[in-house]
Parts: sequence; C-alpha cells; structure tokens
Amino acid sequence: MGRWPYSKREIVENCWKLDVFSLNRFGVFKRDFVEGILSFGKEDKMGFVFDRDKLLLILFYEIKNRKTGKVEEREEVIHLTTTPTNLGKGGVRYWFLCPHCGRRVATLYRPVRINKMLPFRCRTCYNLTYKKQKEHDKTIDFLVKRIKTEGDIRKVVGNVNSPHSIFKIVKVLERLKE
Ligand SMILES: [Zn+2]
Repeated sequence: MGRWPYSKREIVENCWKLDVFSLNRFGVFKRDFVEGILSFGKEDKMGFVFDRDKLLLILFYEIKNRKTGKVEEREEVIHLTTTPTNLGKGGVRYWFLCPHCGRRVATLYRPVRINKMLPFRCRTCYNLTYKKQKEHDKTIDFLVKRIKTEGDIRKVVGNVNSPHSIFKIVKVLERLKE
C-alpha cells in the first residue's frame, strides 16, 4: 500500500494508539505470557496475547464489515524486538516492528476515523501528521496566498528578528522558489 494522498492526511490525535510505554507500564513485558484486553475510547476493545519468548503480540477482535454488514473475527500479529537499555543489568527495551514496513517503532496507529478496519501500522506507513504541524502548514498556505514578493513578507510576518518569524519567512521563500 502506498502513502495517503496529502489531502487525506490524518492527524495522530484522531488515531487509536498502541505504544510500548503503556504496555510496559501495565507490566506486560515483565511476564512470559500475558493475556489481556486493550480498550480504545468508550466501547472498543481488543483482546491480546503477549508471548515474550517469541516476541509476539497478537490482537484479536470482532469488527463489523462496512461493506457486507457482517461481524468478522480479526487477528493482527505484531512482532517485537528488543534493544539493551543504558542501565546495564541485562535490561531490555521493547519495540514494535511495524507489520507493514518492518520499521522499529515505539507506537503503532490505527486511523479509525478513515476506516475502522485498517490494521495497526507505523506513523510513516499512514503518512500521519501531528495536529500542531497541520495547523502550521495551514498558516504557511495562508501566507503564501497573500505574498507575491519578498517585500510583502515583511508586511505579513512583521518583526523579522523573532526566530519564529524567521522560520516562517524561510518556509515562505522556499515555497516561492518552487
Ligand atoms: Zn510502517
């Protein structure tokens, strides 16, 4: 699967998030074999099994297929890997391997607003952005529309000595050059 087109770029804040920090906090990695339930939002739940020897996290859940209207049973297999911690003592840190691209990541996302049936993947695979970044992009688009010349930039951006303004100017100039 390719990247999402820019216009459909989803923000991470609208996604379900599965992160190693939470699993670690709940003690999942401390045991050889753990079964449990993950909940997302108010109603959505998934069962999970973690096998430490195999470094496997299996998610299972029921989901209503939007096309057929039938409830389907689903299973997602997520492989993990470890790296040594700086603390020594043989401690390890756990990471997910993205089920699609294999990247080592701490967080996997599910863009449920686009489609609840999409599986967990990394931020890069879904081309997700952060809310702040998107708002910033909007600001830049707005400036680009109003600015035709480098002289106009000063009128819109104002104080060019502030680092924030300088950053905006650089971005705008980059856009003007395109
Ligand atoms: Zn990925």
